[in-house]
Amino acid sequence: MKLDAQAWLEPTTGVSLRPSPNFNERPEGTDVSLLVIHNISLPPGQFGTPFVADLFLNQLDLNADPWFAENLQGLTVSAHFVIDRSGHITQFVACDKRAWHAGVSQHAGRKQCNDFSIGIELEGTDTLAYTDAQYDALAALTQCLRAHYPLTSVRGHCDIAPGRKTDPGEAFDWGHYAERAGWPVAALPPPRQDCNPYPSNN
Ligand SMILES: [Zn+2]
Repeated sequence: MKLDAQAWLEPTTGVSLRPSPNFNERPEGTDVSLLVIHNISLPPGQFGTPFVADLFLNQLDLNADPWFAENLQGLTVSAHFVIDRSGHITQFVACDKRAWHAGVSQHAGRKQCNDFSIGIELEGTDTLAYTDAQYDALAALTQCLRAHYPLTSVRGHCDIAPGRKTDPGEAFDWGHYAERAGWPVAALPPPRQDCNPYPSNN
């Protein structure tokens, strides 16, 4: 897995590029130091639909599901990457650009995490185990990103927006991911009660 000079993955088997209009420039001189892990599924709990990509491309038909009109109206969002249940990676925003995934957020005293982070969405929910293929793809992508950016921390969306966001949820196995991706312990989120990164069975 490789990033090109414009900070897009080289499209290979298992990687697609679908440029989203939902991005802007990072503040000048910003080091990309944080990786943020999310989950998403649209409608919630349904997998394999086109709706996540549609949302990030501003092409979502709000009438396709009653939940959409209630919850997604006027939303303009994106993430750099989505990893579906089969481990397929789709990139929506170049990593050098600022994607709109974190919202109101804070990390280590710095607000506006979108400025200095890369966002990865796992197709899933907080409570359903992620697939082996997703951990494989996430680990490979993480290693690729760590080779290009001075990433010093990885957090769940729940860690940078506590009380507002719960993803990637208790289903995400931080220990397994950290080992696969080669993260040092110091880079990982501290254990939290409402966003437990270390499941009790681990
Ligand atoms: Zn999120």
